[in-house]
Amino acid sequence: MKAIKIDVLTLFPDMFSAVMSESMMWKARDQGLLDFQVHDIRDYAGNRQRKVDDAPYGGGGGMILKADVLTRAIEAVKAEDGAPVILLSPQGRLLRHEVASELSQQPRLILVCGHYEGVDERAIELAINDEISIGDYVLTGGELAALVLIDAVVRLIPGVLGAEGAQQRDSHADGALEGPHYTRPSAFRGLGVPAVLTSGHHAEVDRWRRRQALKRTWERRPDLLLNAPLDDDDRAYLAQLEDAAGD
Ligand code: SAM
Repeated sequence: MKAIKIDVLTLFPDMFSAVMSESMMWKARDQGLLDFQVHDIRDYAGNRQRKVDDAPYGGGGGMILKADVLTRAIEAVKAEDGAPVILLSPQGRLLRHEVASELSQQPRLILVCGHYEGVDERAIELAINDEISIGDYVLTGGELAALVLIDAVVRLIPGVLGAEGAQQRDSHADGALEGPHYTRPSAFRGLGVPAVLTSGHHAEVDRWRRRQALKRTWERRPDLLLNAPLDDDDRAYLAQLEDAAGD
């Protein structure tokens, strides 16, 4: 059974308890697929006031998370197992499906949540192996970003989601978006369900789903199609969509 251990270093440990005790994250922990530990950076402050930040050299606003405190915290948690230490940062590489998939192959991740104006650059040089951003905007701290990363990674661990392979059909897993879903009732406020879905023809359902996925991606995120693996049928269908749009 493949499992992952995730350690988080944060100034706000309580921010993790609700999310990590519900739904799939809890199920993953309960089944032994995820070993999750939170560490309070203040425990490594090394002073009675538990002060972890200081004013930036050169002036300017905000406070900086101190290099000695953060390095001490990371070294205490890390041990010698070579686990990557990842700083959540708006300056990191973007968290895309491929990055989540790569991280889900690791036996252990150590996530570091920044705060304030940021982190002393020397802690990054000495103790951080990777920086990951969840998008081109700035959050107050790395905690929400770490939770997003954890969720995206853990749901890719085999056994975490109920149906085996369910995540392979999700948007982005094969480079395209997923198509629309329907469930009972078959008629709702005048809207029905595509007949093919109730036909019982599995091959036809698969073909319809693939085409809906391609259509939706073409409409909403055509940029994804540049790198998506496409077969001859897919390309022919996309050409039909282009032709129809040109008419
Ligand atoms: N002054 C920094 C800059 O301009 O790059 C931003 C600091 S931000 C207010 C504080 C912390 O929030 C960062 O150290 C990082 O840990 C986290 N953070 C903010 N935006 C993020 C994002 N888009 N992705 C991941 N982490 C983020």
